Amino acid sequence: MAAVHEVGIARTILEMAERELADRGVSDEVERIVFSAGRLNAVIPEILVFNFDVLKRDFPRFAGALLEVEETPIRARCRACAKGFEIDEPLFVCPDCGSPAAVESGREMILQRIVIRDPSKAG
Ligand SMILES: [Zn+2]
Repeated sequence: MAAVHEVGIARTILEMAERELADRGVSDEVERIVFSAGRLNAVIPEILVFNFDVLKRDFPRFAGALLEVEETPIRARCRACAKGFEIDEPLFVCPDCGSPAAVESGREMILQRIVIRDPSKAG
């Protein structure tokens, strides 16, 4: 089976979230993490969530956390007519004039939100 890069991404998400909460001085448990990945990363959300659920056991405050994955579109711009457009697949051809286009975004991976468990709802 091919190497699954979602394992590394899941670990990075947990480490980034842990660092972020440490910086904010938050010690509570996490309920939910929202993560967005540009489609050029070719992240498969189901596999990422599966790996997150395995790895989160090593990060106590994330043990009950859910991971939500949002895929963001690939944006490109035509080199000839400068039209900007969004694509789902990495086929970088201008829809207007058919010229080659350059990638503008689609590689980003962003930790959008960390939702802390509300202590008043615990128990
Ligand atoms: Zn064009």
